[in-house]
Amino acid sequence: MGEAVTRYKMIREGDRVAVGFSGGKDSFTMLESLILLRDRAPINFTVCAFTIEQGKFLAPIEPFGEFLRARGVDWTYRVDDPSIRLLAEQPGHGCDLCSRFRRRAVYEICRELGANVIALGHTADDFCESLLRNVMFTGRVAALPPITWSRKREFKLIRPLMFVTEDLTTAYAKEAGAPVVPCGCSQKTGTVRRSLRDIFAELEKDFPHLKQTMLTAMSNVTTSRLLDLRFLDLEAGREASDGGTEAAFPLLDEPAFNEL
Ligand code: SF4
Repeated sequence: MGEAVTRYKMIREGDRVAVGFSGGKDSFTMLESLILLRDRAPINFTVCAFTIEQGKFLAPIEPFGEFLRARGVDWTYRVDDPSIRLLAEQPGHGCDLCSRFRRRAVYEICRELGANVIALGHTADDFCESLLRNVMFTGRVAALPPITWSRKREFKLIRPLMFVTEDLTTAYAKEAGAPVVPCGCSQKTGTVRRSLRDIFAELEKDFPHLKQTMLTAMSNVTTSRLLDLRFLDLEAGREASDGGTEAAFPLLDEPAFNEL
């Protein structure tokens, strides 16, 4: 996590970092690791945690909150009534709507907490799944941003666990005796996410470093070996020997093609 925080300049002197704590192994590991980092880092920053209740937890989260407080964590809990109403009125709503509701509640609470940085618990597994999902289902070569900003640049959003796999967060939470609270959505079957997880699990039997390799690939892009015209120099080498320009096959949307 320290490598990610340093490489992508996630935290700076004087920042107040609010950790989105979902009651799961990932956000618990991130929270504890950020606290350890805070105590060892050569810069000063503060850490607090918050949980938004959207009606998706399969068990009460307050006991976990008390567990955190006993470990010295400044934890805030908020029931988001609009999300609870949404769940009652449209139980089958998708992630788009749910995350839009969550985003509003998160910004509201972080404003109250005086935070300027929001830490999200996406792991190396999420980055790899996201890359595959985008390539295979949305027609984009993209994963998740390590850092990004809220629309008015009020908050910096960071993903410090980007190099940490879920094997590690599972082991860490177990070792710490954390009373992990599952989210109803994580139990769903028949989703793209579940299929991708199964593919990874199968491949990793033979290639245990698969995710590390994928993460390396995400920071080592060879744009000339992809098809995006924004990164290709189609004019290179077009100079003819007589100093003129060689004819090139016209692009599909060029008028010359339509006139053929
Ligand atoms: S997985 Fe569940 S909790 Fe997460 S955004 Fe989708 S609907 Fe909401």
